[in-house]
Amino acid sequence: VSPSLAPISDDFLIHTWEVLGSGRFGKVYRCKERRSGLMLAAKVINTITAKEKEMALNEVQVMNQLSHGNVLQLYQAMETRNQVVLILEYVEGGELFDRIVDESSPLTEVDAMVFVKQICEALHYMHQMYVIHLDLKPENILCVDRTSHQVKIIDFGLARRYKPGGKLRVNFGTPEFLAPEVVNFDFVSFPTDMWTLGVVTYMLVSGMSPFLGDEDNQTLSNVLAATWYFDEDAFEHVSAEARDFISNLLIREKGGRMSAAQCLKHPWLNNISEKAKHLNMVLKSQVLLRKYMAKKLWKKNYIAVAAANRLKKIGSSGSLTSLGV
Ligand code: ATP
Repeated sequence: VSPSLAPISDDFLIHTWEVLGSGRFGKVYRCKERRSGLMLAAKVINTITAKEKEMALNEVQVMNQLSHGNVLQLYQAMETRNQVVLILEYVEGGELFDRIVDESSPLTEVDAMVFVKQICEALHYMHQMYVIHLDLKPENILCVDRTSHQVKIIDFGLARRYKPGGKLRVNFGTPEFLAPEVVNFDFVSFPTDMWTLGVVTYMLVSGMSPFLGDEDNQTLSNVLAATWYFDEDAFEHVSAEARDFISNLLIREKGGRMSAAQCLKHPWLNNISEKAKHLNMVLKSQVLLRKYMAKKLWKKNYIAVAAANRLKKIGSSGSLTSLGV
């Protein structure tokens, strides 16, 4: 039985003229709590269909269970007849990859370690709370501000509560970040997030997307085959430890991947302040990420895995249903 939420109240002033972002099901606006003047964000989700409503309530339920410095905090959730409104902590630093490409000082490997470590802390916490995020792409990693290195994981729209040993399948995602088990419509589990962490880490240190093909079909078959390599040029200044970290995540078999706890123990994410004294070689990723982000502007799409699944049956000539955002 779905819980019902509080009705919309005028405790919050939603700045409908200040859009912070938009997604598949609605928009995110700046918002102010009238009583305290506190700046917040309001994610307004259109819930016309029962399925949309169920998904929005799932997002609320999952977020209600989480409280961690690297996870976006939900303040309150309200509803109208056709909308669910999530009142969220406001994060002003923008998406991590945007920040990196805009930064005047280029990215070093130590910067990447600091970011990845926090993503691992967030995943470790979520997984301990039996939550799988399932949509951990770069747009869902936000910077707290423009100066510090603190990041937060957002968008629990596809996240699921997961009982270990449970049989859970998901059917949505962005092709280049999907784990092989998602493309295959096999069971997902905590390691599904760890695969995506591998993709994000690969991109952070190299600026390249390891499975991205010219079209979705190509990307999905690269993921399914788990074929990837370290591009020699892009990885020129990337340490052996970073490569080892990535290699232990981008493993086709779920059971072979490091858990978030193991990631936090990996040498790459340890003794960071010591490494900061000498590992200040500039990565090539900033320049390559700029190119990637410029292309991505017109290629922001989700695919339905049910459609992607056809790929297996009809081969790489099959076409996919792309749900443009
Ligand atoms: P998608 O279709 O990409 O999954 P969505 O509809 O689930 O999106 P979110 O990913 O939660 O929506 O938010 C969309 C965008 O709005 C984010 O990528 C981010 O840029 C911005 N945003 C979301 N929440 C906040 C926040 N709390 N503070 C600042 N900006 C935010």
